[in-house]
Amino acid sequence: MIELKNIEKRFGDLTVLKNVSLSIAEGSVMALVGPSGGGKSTLLRCMNLLEIPTSGSVEIDGDRLDFQPGVKVTTKSIQLVRRHSGMVFQNFQLFPHRTVIENVTEGLTTVLKWPKERARERAMALLEKVGLAHKAEVWPSTLSGGQQQRVAIARALAPSPRILLCDEPTSALDPELSGEVVDVLAQLAREGTTMVMATHDLRLASRIANQAIVLDGGVIVETGTSHDIFTQPKQERTKRFIATLT
Ligand code: ATP
Ligand code: MG
Repeated sequence: MIELKNIEKRFGDLTVLKNVSLSIAEGSVMALVGPSGGGKSTLLRCMNLLEIPTSGSVEIDGDRLDFQPGVKVTTKSIQLVRRHSGMVFQNFQLFPHRTVIENVTEGLTTVLKWPKERARERAMALLEKVGLAHKAEVWPSTLSGGQQQRVAIARALAPSPRILLCDEPTSALDPELSGEVVDVLAQLAREGTTMVMATHDLRLASRIANQAIVLDGGVIVETGTSHDIFTQPKQERTKRFIATLT
């Protein structure tokens, strides 16, 4: 249901992703691991077109975009594909001048033009799900990091995306607060939410992901079930990398 083919991403002379192809089945959770600078964030950003791939194709839920150097894709077609995914960032990125519930309703009312009441109902249901209905009317700055990240997850899920993309969702949190975010992500995984998650957190990855990809130097070094990758990696580069995590 999400398929990347031959993705290349260059920033000037620097090639950050080289011929990356992968597909993610509906309901599966993929961990994206690998050394710092390997291209994990860039790959996630290419999936929801926050970065435009230099070449290759991105297909989500039947909508496909092809990229070629020098050929501009229309904003409209970018938006069409982008709407299929929701993104959660390492540092939450909530709107500081909006209340918690407004953070969740914002995209629904402004982008999707939902009526305010319907958006609030949807937002309350999601805040309930992440255990924060009682914080709906407060400012994000009054919340703990773990609570802010749970609001960010509710916000990403609000338009019912086909896939949730998470870029190091727990790495800004201490272990206790990280646990409450992991619990929410684990529940979403159990419910069949399709997810791709860049992470250095082996506990998170092995609890939630069924698939894993190791990205190093912009290249997929190894791919397989998360169990195999984390317990019996085949490639030397994967073995060395996994050893640094445990
Ligand atoms: P980390 O684990 O540290 O988050 P990462 O695997 O997410 O690393 P990326 O952030 O995707 O790695 O970066 C991959 C490479 O692309 C790095 O060399 C980085 O400097 C480069 N890069 C990323 N974004 C840009 C940009 N906007 N302009 C130029 N270079 C960039
Ligand atoms: Mg990153």
